[in-house]
Amino acid sequence: CLATFLMITSFIPTINHFDIIATVALPDDDIFALDIVSKIYTDHDSTAKASSDFGHIVEAIPHGVFHPTSPADIAALIRLSISQSKPFTVAPCGQGHSARGQALASGGIVIDMRSMGRGDDNICRVNMSTDELWVDVGGEQLWIDILHATLKHGLAPRIWTDYLRITVGGTLSNGGIGGQVFRHGPQISNVHELDVVTGMGEMITCSPDKHSDLFFAALGGLGQFGVITRARIALEPAPKRVLWVRIAYSDVESFTSDQELLISKRSSGSGFDYIEGQVQLNRTLTEGRRSSSFFSASELDLLAELALRTGSTAIYYIEGAMYYNDDTASSVNQRLERLLEELSFAPGFTFVRDVSYVDFLDRVGREEQKLRSAGVWDVPHPWLNLFVPRSRILDFDAGVFKGILRDAKPVGLILMYPMNKDMWDDRMTAATPDDGEDDVFYAVGLLRSAVAAGELERLERENAAVLEFCDREGIGCKQYLPHHASPDGWRRHFGEKWSRVAALKRKYDPWAILSPGQGIFFPAS
Ligand code: FAD
Repeated sequence: CLATFLMITSFIPTINHFDIIATVALPDDDIFALDIVSKIYTDHDSTAKASSDFGHIVEAIPHGVFHPTSPADIAALIRLSISQSKPFTVAPCGQGHSARGQALASGGIVIDMRSMGRGDDNICRVNMSTDELWVDVGGEQLWIDILHATLKHGLAPRIWTDYLRITVGGTLSNGGIGGQVFRHGPQISNVHELDVVTGMGEMITCSPDKHSDLFFAALGGLGQFGVITRARIALEPAPKRVLWVRIAYSDVESFTSDQELLISKRSSGSGFDYIEGQVQLNRTLTEGRRSSSFFSASELDLLAELALRTGSTAIYYIEGAMYYNDDTASSVNQRLERLLEELSFAPGFTFVRDVSYVDFLDRVGREEQKLRSAGVWDVPHPWLNLFVPRSRILDFDAGVFKGILRDAKPVGLILMYPMNKDMWDDRMTAATPDDGEDDVFYAVGLLRSAVAAGELERLERENAAVLEFCDREGIGCKQYLPHHASPDGWRRHFGEKWSRVAALKRKYDPWAILSPGQGIFFPAS
């Protein structure tokens, strides 16, 4: 076919001119490619919205934003890119809830995954098998919508992130961790099948038995191997209610040994159904918010007194959840009491709420509303998430919580909870600590927001100091939701998996056009 250089403005008069696409070479008779180009929005409003993310740290202006209505549209966009002498980059964007530009595409095309049919009742992209206990969902779907759709049948996915207004494609590209991970593994361990559009524009259905290299590559694959357009996710019968519990500790040793005891009960059915944990640094207790979605002001005062009385630099608490239904309601309190008797928290420091399953799972959604009303949601979020080997967690605590952050200003949340390594299939791209001996590692999330002027720089300095401490002390951490500025950083991140990751990239995205905001691979210039 003869290639013609097209002025797209003649096809889309209402949309501003887009210079990369204005010089895209289209075959004369390729009507399909014209249809694709007409779904690319290049107006200032569209590109400005797709230039930033939840982190508000990185800005990267794309040339256009693509609004696909089917996986075939995404395949056609990718084929259009790689048909060019200089392919343009393509970044699927779920909600853009990444912190460091991972779903952005400077000078390329951002795929707005919402347009695939999220929240549109006329387009059914959530289908389930109630017999086989799975749900097929579009990669663009929000977990909160999946929760409501599956609950209509008394079912629900088994593992949840803390926040549900993020997408299936976004969390499966990372891992998807939360308090149920000790029992069921991360979200990427609860997927039966995927539809993926590769960086070659091929639409492939993959599973552990079919195109398994692509299946495992895409899970935790940071968007590098293809665009996930459908995932088949495992379900379980959903509980109706939850005892939501927090128990406080003034010493890290009891806190971690109780957490590890609790996750060891994963198959006995006698423990919690969800286990996380938090670290409250002293200044958080004395100067932080005076109430939270869980604690009242007087309970926070009690925790502050505990810190004062014991002279500890931080208070730790385990957050647990025990699910129950009408038929188990009469025994759940006894079950909780028996479990608490086995633990070594500060006497009297037990806080229990009895809530619906949905209210429990959507707790961060309520927090979001509060933060939005206070005008502190759309602020910079220099989040740092680490996986720390169990054998070094006390060293990490001593160096970071009792050292670098000891007197840090209270500006967010610190999470800390353990998970079992054997729940992470090593064939997946997601990276976990390689310390051979440890069968448990901790997720530690420094989820802090820069609200005041100058705070971002300070938080970034503290994050750098934490990473430097881990390196210096040979702690063997891996970043979760990773960000590395250098190719060497990425090589170390993937460790032994690096050569496989690079080979799969060459196979499924040889032009390196996908998810360029991760900064792992770069298109040939
Ligand atoms: P995006 O930020 O849009 O995308 C993330 C990456 O995936 C990008 O590289 C993008 O190009 C790629 N991508 C997006 N869609 C697709 C697709 N369909 N196919 C292939 N690649 C794709 N994470 C947890 O694991 N546990 C938590 O408890 C948790 N809590 C959170 C709480 C809050 C308030 C926030 C903001 C985030 C939280 N996260 C948590 C992090 C979240 O998992 C990541 O932000 C994740 O990237 C999902 O966000 P997203 O859907 O907006 O993806």
